[in-house]
Amino acid sequence: MLNYKTGLDYALEQDQNDKLKNYRNQFHIPKDGNGYDLIYMTGNSLGLQPKTTKAYVNQELEDWANLGVEGHFEAKNPWLGYHEYLTESMAKVVGAKPIEIVVMNTLTANLHFMMVSFYQPTKTRYKILIESDAFPSDKYAVESQLRHHGFDYKEGLVLWKPRKDEELLRYEDLEQILEQQGDEIALMMIGGVNYYTGQFFDLKRITQLGHKYGCKVGFDCAHGAGNVKLNLHDSGADFAAWCTYKYLNSGPGSLAGCFIHERHAYNKNLNRFAGWWSHNKQTRFNMRGEFDQLPGAEGWQLSNPPILSMAAIKASLDLFNEVGIEKLSKKSKQLTGYFEFLLEELNEDSIKIITPSNPDERGCQLSIQVKNADKTLHDKLIEAGVISDWREPDVIRCAPTPFYNSFEDVYRLVEKLKNILNA
Ligand SMILES: *Cc1c(COP(=O)(O)O)cnc(C)c1O
Repeated sequence: MLNYKTGLDYALEQDQNDKLKNYRNQFHIPKDGNGYDLIYMTGNSLGLQPKTTKAYVNQELEDWANLGVEGHFEAKNPWLGYHEYLTESMAKVVGAKPIEIVVMNTLTANLHFMMVSFYQPTKTRYKILIESDAFPSDKYAVESQLRHHGFDYKEGLVLWKPRKDEELLRYEDLEQILEQQGDEIALMMIGGVNYYTGQFFDLKRITQLGHKYGCKVGFDCAHGAGNVKLNLHDSGADFAAWCTYKYLNSGPGSLAGCFIHERHAYNKNLNRFAGWWSHNKQTRFNMRGEFDQLPGAEGWQLSNPPILSMAAIKASLDLFNEVGIEKLSKKSKQLTGYFEFLLEELNEDSIKIITPSNPDERGCQLSIQVKNADKTLHDKLIEAGVISDWREPDVIRCAPTPFYNSFEDVYRLVEKLKNILNA
């Protein structure tokens, strides 16, 4: 598949030969005023709605209407154990064991709860290392944890930065930071796939480095889950968290996933915040006993979960389960490779792809830096029927997802970009 060709014919032929082509029909594709499909390139921000979602959510609305509180036991999918219906498919999507996975809360909340357990600073080991261009919510979360424990958030924050005139991060530089101040760093928390550059990190390598210096290591996989093969268990990371509304197509603000490595599953001494949903399922409703910690990731839950949101997650995960992350990842590499090829064929000096060119170091997103551009470029793309994402100062991020984007989408996107740049 490396012999890409220019021309619409080639794109249409690739779509014809695509084994996953019918999945596009299983999603609602937003339309322009004339009823034509928009070119939707922002599955990295909000994934599209599977057509099955409505029925999954309706089922729970119906059961609630007909059964009231009895739905906890009598619903078609009894609500009491609803989160358990998601565990196995979610575990497959992120490469984990079921005991390591729970769907709960929202992403930033989960990062905080993970830090309650895995950020245990001492007087000498208290710093937190993040990427210099971490997602703002992660940076604020980490800073507030430092403050919460009485540290100066500026002094306590260690940034892994790109070199001058570079965009991507280098492992040698991380190693150097650890050599110099590894014994002061309590926690490393890195975005598994950086939201801005699209760089997919070697989670295992980072984890091994961190552990070698005695640091705990966690990943924010918001841009990785459903996009790349994360292999969380094998990475050895202490924890990870991700939202499900990006590549996992479960709807705006939907619940998040959380991974806690199996080696912590039975450790009752690990500090954590608890609620009735972290308590032993057998005695949860006795209500008056001593707290009895559930093993595994489930033991980090606090509350009984929102079923309507989980129904939407189930609809999406059932699709993921049907196809498998292996096949999705294979198509993703072809689609993004094709996107990269077309951009390079443009031969435009004004654009530079800042995402790694190695397909194993990225997911489907390409971040395109456009010299002297401003947000009007993004506005022109919208006028031309392209939904992409603009990041100041000069980057458009486009994420052709293997589930619902076509080679034709990518072809048309690049044509439109060319026309705008040449106008
Ligand atoms: C999308 C995203 C978030 C958003 O956090 P919420 O708590 O879901 O609002 C946080 N971190 C990263 C890296 C993200 O990509």
